[in-house]
Amino acid sequence: IPKVRILDIPFSVMGMDETVRYCDELIQSKTPHHIITANPEIVILAQENKELKDIIEAAQLVTCDGTGVVWATQYTDFPAKERVTGFDLTLQLFALCSEKNYSVYFVGAKPEVMEAAINEIKKQWPKLDIVGHHHGYFRVGDEQKTIEDIQTKKPEVLFVALGAPRQEFWISEHLKKLEVPLTIGVGGSFDVLSG
Ligand code: UDP
Repeated sequence: IPKVRILDIPFSVMGMDETVRYCDELIQSKTPHHIITANPEIVILAQENKELKDIIEAAQLVTCDGTGVVWATQYTDFPAKERVTGFDLTLQLFALCSEKNYSVYFVGAKPEVMEAAINEIKKQWPKLDIVGHHHGYFRVGDEQKTIEDIQTKKPEVLFVALGAPRQEFWISEHLKKLEVPLTIGVGGSFDVLSG
C-alpha cells in the first residue's frame, strides 16, 4: 500500500474507500492485524516513546487521522486523499461488517457508555453481529476472562476503546494470542456513539 513518512511515522495515504477495502482484505486473510488511526497526540508521543514507535512500525496500517498530516503529505510524491479518522473508520467498518456478516467484539469505555453505545449501534446497524463486549475498566481477573472470551467467540474485528495510546499498547500486547484478523483502537468512539 502507498505510504509516506511524516515525522518518521509510516502513514498510509489511502482515502476512506480504499482503506475500507484494504481492511476487508486483511479480515479475509485470517491472520492478526493491527490498525492505527494516528492522531496528532500519538504522532507526537511516538517521537519520544520508543515502545510506541515500534508498535506503530509493526502495525499493518497507520491512517492520517489529523489535518496536519494530510497537509504535510501534499508536499511529497504521495499526497493523502483525505483524513481517515478513528471515528469515521469505525462507522465504515460497522457498515462493512454488517454487509459482509463479519462478527465484531467491543472492548473499552465506561460500562454505561458501552451499553448505551451498543443500543445505538443496534438501531443503526441491526444486522451487525456483536458477539461480545467488555467495558474498559477491568477489575482483577476481568481482563484475562475477556481475552478468553474473545478467543472463544472468534470475532473478525475487535474494536478497542481504551484511549490513545493505552489501547495501542493493549492491542500490541495481546494481538497474537487473540487471533482476531483485524484489531483497531477507536479512542472515544463509543462515547460519541452513546449520545
Ligand atoms: N477508557 C477506558 N479505560 C481506561 C481509560 C479510558 O475504557 O482505563 C476509555 C474512556 O472511557 C473513553 C476512551 O477510553 O471511552 C477514550 O478516552 P480518552 O478520551 O481519554 O481518549 P482519546 O479519545 O483521546 O483517545
